[in-house]
Amino acid sequence: MRGLQALPRNGDWSGARVGVLGLGRSGRGAVRLLESCGATAIAFDDRMDPSTLDALAADGLGHVEPRSAAQDGAALVRDLDVLVVSPGVPGTHPMVAAADVAGLMVISELELAWRRTGSEVIAVTGTNGKSTTVSLIHEMLLAAGIGSVLAGNIGVALSDEVGDVDDDGVLVVECSSFQLERIMEFHPKVAAVLNVAPDHLDRYASFEDYAEAKHNVLRNQQPGDVFVFPAGDRRLEEWARGAVGETSSFGLERTAGASAWVTDGSVWRSSKSGDEEIMPVADLRLLGRHNHLNVAAAVAAVAPWNIPAATLREVLANFGALPHRAVQVESADGRTWVDDSKATNVHAASATLSGLEGPVVLLVGGSGKDED
Ligand code: ADP
Repeated sequence: MRGLQALPRNGDWSGARVGVLGLGRSGRGAVRLLESCGATAIAFDDRMDPSTLDALAADGLGHVEPRSAAQDGAALVRDLDVLVVSPGVPGTHPMVAAADVAGLMVISELELAWRRTGSEVIAVTGTNGKSTTVSLIHEMLLAAGIGSVLAGNIGVALSDEVGDVDDDGVLVVECSSFQLERIMEFHPKVAAVLNVAPDHLDRYASFEDYAEAKHNVLRNQQPGDVFVFPAGDRRLEEWARGAVGETSSFGLERTAGASAWVTDGSVWRSSKSGDEEIMPVADLRLLGRHNHLNVAAAVAAVAPWNIPAATLREVLANFGALPHRAVQVESADGRTWVDDSKATNVHAASATLSGLEGPVVLLVGGSGKDED
């Protein structure tokens, strides 16, 4: 049985032959999930070297014979029911191209994992602020006694986590554009897009292609679902107009339709009884305008769970910057060292730089990704 019928949602996967291309964290999670559900996973990776193989064996994947996707991937496509592609593998990869030509179903690891859960999903994407925002959302849900499980681009494969969430729990999933490229039925209850700015232009043919990959997060939403977006962003307002479910915006001012905003020195949300002040900005541990947006986005994303303001306040008052996100490392002789090494595009770096005072010495490195 070819295609997604071979992997029915929460059904019987035994007998399915599923290729997994790319054996990073997501690919290994996909192999584990497939094997635990009775499917046969056939793993492919072009960049296999002995140390990776050892690591895989130690990881319990020793029984999977890794094959070279570049050498025999195209031929092996014929024997598969579905191909799962890791986020790190571009759509131009010869094996993906061969699978497309052969009409084989190609899905992302996100789609695969989603097919093993009945729980509600909050999906967060955007160019920047994803990890900070999903972490906030996760902490808010946990503080409210809701069984939240955090996964995705934050560093834990969703495939490894889907078994750990209760039926009435929530999966909070950080989604990169790569993970959203090959979804088919992945369906979040809440989809938040924080911002869309140039990034990964070395992988996408154009900025529009990159933005459209993110747009996929809305693709399967239904009436009753929620799309959370920044007020005043023309592209995302356009997406909101096309959304099937409810829309809910966040920002740095109170606008019509806003669910949460940070203005006049306070964090606010809208409630049935009117605007509700959650806390003064001065009591937030997260600093900077961009983090105020992340806070507002998180408050908007959890709105369907009706968490008391006091609970949100407690989380926000204790939540500091994640490692490498504009963290003050040291201060001496009138100089301050800031580690913002997670600012991996111009949009992120400028967000942090605009919050710094005084003359700045900027140390940069990494890959340019074809940005300005
Ligand atoms: P992501 O997971 O999307 O990479 P992070 O929360 O890890 O985002 O933050 C990475 C970097 O992006 C931060 O160090 C900061 O420089 C920048 N950043 C965070 N939030 C925002 C935002 N809302 N808008 C612009 N830049 C941001």
